[in-house]
Amino acid sequence: MSLVNPVFVDEVKRSGEFNANACMNCGVCSAVCPMGIELLPRKLFRYVLLGLQDKVLENRETVYSCLLCGMCEANCPAGVNIAENVRSLRYYMNKKVFKI
Ligand code: SF4
Ligand code: SF4
Repeated sequence: MSLVNPVFVDEVKRSGEFNANACMNCGVCSAVCPMGIELLPRKLFRYVLLGLQDKVLENRETVYSCLLCGMCEANCPAGVNIAENVRSLRYYMNKKVFKI
């Protein structure tokens, strides 16, 4: 069972832009991703919005496997800034979790 961290999304936002509220779970991003990443952003960003920090950390390899190529966000019908969100998430993890 995951613990909810109610301030998780606010903490991530302090590391940079993070906005996934507009995502409508259409799956276009996963379909065009050259890495075949299915978690991003549909599930992983939702975990952030829900405060499921443990779930995000469990899937950290996915966060770091993203190429930041922007294919997903170029095709996102909702205009979610996916690559920028990933950057913010990485920055948060590097500084606050892994202390590097
Ligand atoms: S393409 Fe955009 S709206 Fe569709 S699942 Fe991905 S982030 Fe959400
Ligand atoms: S930016 Fe990341 S998640 Fe988006 S298509 Fe490229 S590798 Fe996949």
